[in-house]
Amino acid sequence: MKIAMTGVSGHMGSEALRQTMELGGVEYIRVLLSCKKRNNKLAKKLKKRYGDRIGIVRGTIAQRENCERLVADMDMVIHMAAVIPPASDSSFSASCDCNLKGTVFLVDAVKAMVPQPKFVHVSTVALYGNRNEKHPFGRVGDPLIVSAYDTYAMHKLRAERYVLDADLHCFAVLRQTAMLNPNMLNDNISDGLMFHTALNAPLEWVSARDSGYLVRRLVERELEGGLSAFWNNIYNIGAGKKGRCTGVDTFDEGFALIGGSAEKFLRPHWFAARNFHGMWFSDANELEELFGFQRDGVHDYWQEIGRCHKIFALGKCVPAKLIDFFLFRRLLKHPNSPREWLKRGDTARVIASFGSVRAAEELSSSWEDYALMKKGDFGDYDALRDEKNAVLLDHGYDESKPLGALSVEELGHAANFRGGELLSEEYGGDPYAKLTWRCHEGHTFAASPFTVLRGGHWCPECCLPEPWRFGKLARSSPFFAQVWYDSNSEDEHYGYGFDGEGKAVLLTEDEA
Ligand SMILES: [Zn+2]
Repeated sequence: MKIAMTGVSGHMGSEALRQTMELGGVEYIRVLLSCKKRNNKLAKKLKKRYGDRIGIVRGTIAQRENCERLVADMDMVIHMAAVIPPASDSSFSASCDCNLKGTVFLVDAVKAMVPQPKFVHVSTVALYGNRNEKHPFGRVGDPLIVSAYDTYAMHKLRAERYVLDADLHCFAVLRQTAMLNPNMLNDNISDGLMFHTALNAPLEWVSARDSGYLVRRLVERELEGGLSAFWNNIYNIGAGKKGRCTGVDTFDEGFALIGGSAEKFLRPHWFAARNFHGMWFSDANELEELFGFQRDGVHDYWQEIGRCHKIFALGKCVPAKLIDFFLFRRLLKHPNSPREWLKRGDTARVIASFGSVRAAEELSSSWEDYALMKKGDFGDYDALRDEKNAVLLDHGYDESKPLGALSVEELGHAANFRGGELLSEEYGGDPYAKLTWRCHEGHTFAASPFTVLRGGHWCPECCLPEPWRFGKLARSSPFFAQVWYDSNSEDEHYGYGFDGEGKAVLLTEDEA
């Protein structure tokens, strides 16, 4: 088998390349590496290690020719490249180039080939947007409500839609979750990004090592010829119950390595109350049953980081007050920190993250006053994290039936549940064939029942920011309303956008 990979300089991609190369049936892997200086060293290392088994295309993914050279003559393409926050927050164009344009060019290159290689697209949990204690569990098919000003999620949502609309012969979309990796402490203490984490955000982690193992298992099963049940579908990657925690536990795990806790170093009002992303997956077992890749748990992984980096033993000798003063006070003043938005009058971002300026100002600085899932304030925490107790969202159709067995009336009902209607009068039972739909605002669009019902996508005009106009959508769509009002009030009549200079601006629902 010959495979093309993007993103091999990243956490998931490097693990996927290393572990897939261990398979004897893999003849050749061609990778794309950008011309960044640090990739020179990586290119040399890969050539030395793998010799003729590896091919390297150097250049940006945002150029059509590079994507065409990458995928030529390959049997499978595994697209893992991404520009993630905080890099995507500070450079809109870098995010657009890699997350959106790169995907478009790869998909086009795959479509032009005869026969087409199989295409694995790594998408993201960020598509689902904000969750809290009201619906911590979700699954494929839930509404996609990317958080306002999350440039990464916005481009990834558009990219995934492009993949699904492309009529590829053989594809899989893997929505990747928050990823545990050996550098995660360093990666998260240089920017205000850490304060975007809502403390009750349900997070289901997976390690980069297991994500790479998932890719290896996928290739291995494909070599064995036993993968027909996998293709042409969408999945969530997660570690299952042992990966489930909340925003605040993540800080607790990290600080435990230096003898501290979130309570000791941080204050709750520093953190956004909403507009984050992450959820626990009630369907995490779907990929696990196919590939058996879930090995690392979140707690054990943090312990492993602590053992691997001797520096954490030193950290225990540093007085907590010093760490607090030098590190977090500095990060709080970073332009990407919610407290700084409040200070600088960035009203659009403050309202998106807290509901109102007043709510942000009045948020308690005391841990005692702050209700947390972790403390048991919303019921037994261990039981809450069990998928058996998950409260699932309604997808507006009978999910016990395969999509191909639904009637045109049932598809019409699903469209009504989304606030719109199905215009096509016939449905031949091919869930991947496009039908015509209309949203509540009268936009007409073509999409397959698979994209709408299984994927959770809907009207491109209303659902692909920017601007972000989900508040208006929720008023007409029970499908979106059932989760939107978990963290938004009916009194809020906002849309969110950028002005001509890229500054965040608060819009009315009608302007959006
Ligand atoms: Zn619309």
